[in-house]
Amino acid sequence: MDVLFFWVALLGTVAVLAYHRASLTMFTAVIAALLAIATFTDTVGVVSWVLFLIVAVPLNVASIRQQYLTKPLLKMYRKIMPEMSTTEKEAIDAGTTWWEGDLFRGTPDWHKLHNYPKPRLSAEEQAFLDGPCEELLAIVDDWHTTHERADLSPEVYQYLKDHGFFAMIIKKQYGGLEFSAYAQSCVLQKLTSKSMVLSSVVGVPNSLGPGELLQHYGTKEQQDHYLPRLAKGLEIPCFALTSPEAGSDAGAIPDVGIVCKSEWEGQEIIGMRLTWNKRYITLAPIATVLGLAFKMHDPDGLLGDKKDLGITCALIPVSTPGVKIGRRHFPLNVPFQNGPTQGEEVFVPLDYIIGGPKMAGQGWRMLVECLSVGRAITLPSNSTGGIKAAALMTGAYARIRRQFKLPIGKMEGIEEALARIGGYAYMAEASTTMSVGSIDLGEKPSVISAITKFHMTERMRQAIIDAMDIHGGKGICMGPNNYLARGYQGAPVAITVEGANILTRNMIIYGQGAIRCHPFVLAELQAAGLEDERAAVTAFDHALFGHIGFSISNFFRALWLGLSNSAFSSSPYADATAKYYKQMNRYSAALALMSDVAMGTMGGDLKRRERISARLGDMLSMLYLTSSVLKRYNDDGRPAQDLPLVQWACEDNMYKAQVALDEMLDNFPNRVVGSVLGKLLFPWGRTLRKPSDQLDHQVSRIMQTPCEARSRLGTNLYLTLEPNNQIGLIEKALTDILAAEPIFDKVVHAANKRLPFFRLHEVAALGLELGVITEAEAEKLRVAEQGRLHTINVDDFDPLELAADKSLFDKKPKAKSVAA
Ligand SMILES: Cc1cc2nc3c(=O)[nH]c(=O)nc-3n(C[C@H](O)[C@H](O)[C@H](O)COP(=O)(O)OP(=O)(O)OC[C@H]3O[C@@H](n4cnc5c(N)ncnc54)[C@H](O)[C@@H]3O)c2cc1C
Repeated sequence: MDVLFFWVALLGTVAVLAYHRASLTMFTAVIAALLAIATFTDTVGVVSWVLFLIVAVPLNVASIRQQYLTKPLLKMYRKIMPEMSTTEKEAIDAGTTWWEGDLFRGTPDWHKLHNYPKPRLSAEEQAFLDGPCEELLAIVDDWHTTHERADLSPEVYQYLKDHGFFAMIIKKQYGGLEFSAYAQSCVLQKLTSKSMVLSSVVGVPNSLGPGELLQHYGTKEQQDHYLPRLAKGLEIPCFALTSPEAGSDAGAIPDVGIVCKSEWEGQEIIGMRLTWNKRYITLAPIATVLGLAFKMHDPDGLLGDKKDLGITCALIPVSTPGVKIGRRHFPLNVPFQNGPTQGEEVFVPLDYIIGGPKMAGQGWRMLVECLSVGRAITLPSNSTGGIKAAALMTGAYARIRRQFKLPIGKMEGIEEALARIGGYAYMAEASTTMSVGSIDLGEKPSVISAITKFHMTERMRQAIIDAMDIHGGKGICMGPNNYLARGYQGAPVAITVEGANILTRNMIIYGQGAIRCHPFVLAELQAAGLEDERAAVTAFDHALFGHIGFSISNFFRALWLGLSNSAFSSSPYADATAKYYKQMNRYSAALALMSDVAMGTMGGDLKRRERISARLGDMLSMLYLTSSVLKRYNDDGRPAQDLPLVQWACEDNMYKAQVALDEMLDNFPNRVVGSVLGKLLFPWGRTLRKPSDQLDHQVSRIMQTPCEARSRLGTNLYLTLEPNNQIGLIEKALTDILAAEPIFDKVVHAANKRLPFFRLHEVAALGLELGVITEAEAEKLRVAEQGRLHTINVDDFDPLELAADKSLFDKKPKAKSVAA
């Protein structure tokens, strides 16, 4: 056997074994077999066997490996291991990993993805959407809410309480609705399609707050007292963590509870003296019970030896003497109830701690555990409802509004922005459904919740900007007929809350993802932290050598998938979607490799290298979002009509994954590593393209034409035709205009002149006069004209109506007209 051939065969075999993640024993056996054949054919001699044994024996014999390799490496690792605060540790420990873990590990199993059950509503949940939700939305007037009252009306609040809207998460045994996460998401999407204030007010008590905390951690007495009252709306909860000094760094709250003795209801008891100054607290101005996070101290040792007990959560009735609450902030022009609260040395019993005194100091863990779930539901659902509503309304508007004698939606420039809204709408529904579905499967998806929170709120902001651009002045002039401006104004609220987005992208997604999803990093950290040295070496040995094998495998996988442009990798379908599965195989392997390279070269410093962490997080996010799109397509029965939407969303996401990887390599702190890997991972340069103009055209056509794909884009929105529902009205106007167009063409043809597509009532009269249309057809033209005018017209006001302080106008002379 030729020596060169032997070494090529050896390298090829190693690559194939690594690609398929073969075990160390398999590697050793196969290489030994190759050497044996080569020795038999006189290709290699004793030196090769010596080299082989020098490497193979220490690797395969645990006692030698641990003594001479693992021990020194553990020592080194402990020195460079990043330091973690208790709050960081608790945040990482909270929650579970799910499908994103498979994507992170470089070998996603597509059958596993498609086998997760499709979330479905129970009959009771569907009835709630069709009944109470519809009735509620019929009595909500968003202009009245946002402009005239700066609050929901008392009638709406009463309806919410009476029908359990505040109790979707509360168990039936306490009188709540006990809805699935999927049902909660559908309800919130529907509410947000008419009123952001409404969905915010309903979202908060069902998310991270007293209800959720009590159900998980409350004592039986607390649960029996509060939960039925919360379910009936007799108590309105809020939860106060944020302080002026501690926003994103919530673990640094300066609010305190000092354990002490004092008089309570005529008796001396051990309690806490609470001092707090909180802001931005949703529902605080109307709350009856205040959930409060503070740091608990026991300076006199009344509870034990520990003086600083840590973050603790308590429930304080707002009627408690000393509680200051009731003032409001003004969160943009989406005036849901939000405000500050303060208290100075307010004495309360220890029983006010959620879960009782034994839960003192457990507050941070409680919060991050609940946040893993709540963050995946409220903001992603509200944002998804907003994007879907923007897609339907903007598609309809672009078809109805004409300029230069054409529906503006036929202009290529508009198609670009329109397609973006459509693609985002399809993807938002897909990923929010998949994420809340994971909660219903029992997961507490901390990484997924950060991904969907960030990307849904960002996509919502972009979709609303695009929708505003397409609507031009119609989007800008506010009033009861403007269905976009409040969404546009309110978008930064969703960006900021529950982990402001810059922080979420740069730190949380990958920071939690790397440790939670990686098969070995957490095990290494835990092993290094063990006090028993023998146990530490054994556990570290297992994790470290697993990690090394995993990295070698990822290297060969990423290399081959890049070189072959993933052409030969597997896909569960051989249709138009196959290429997206293949692209994800490639980027999943590249993510797994880059993750190890980043951790290996930067160690603890990666925490401060936020731009690298953000791009690794982007890759993980894009893989997650793309897989959710393909799952939705599959769950919906792979309808051919939806294919342009699926393709648009996949191509947009995968292009973004490519940009993230390329830019990370370009900016990799170790330039040698960055440029070598740049060549290896992109041997053919950037091969993925953004969605094409043709695809933009196909998507924007779907959005402007009533069809099944368009209806699916608008599932669970409030589309009912009633005078106060702009989305219902514009949907009707679209159908009426499309019905009127062929009649209009008939009249134009008979009259033999080019008529503009407006004043359709006059076109109707002309058609009747010419005898080319029936009265029923004339009526269709008149109805279409009404809808058209309603769609394009904007509100105007008496100047005084717009002034908040009307008395100012009484004292000043009236403004002179320009002409005068
Ligand atoms: C309308 C509204 C409602 C809210 N409701 C509640 C509530 O009910 N209860 C409650 O407790 N809290 C509530 N909050 C607080 C909210 O959830 C955020 O935690 C808080 O607003 C963030 O703090 P901050 O606004 O002071 O921003 P800052 O913390 O000052 O952050 C400013 C900017 O710095 C970025 N940043 C911060 N740290 C980093 C980092 N390490 N790396 C990169 N970027 C970073 C942030 O992303 C942000 O862009 C609410 C806030 C608002 C505005």
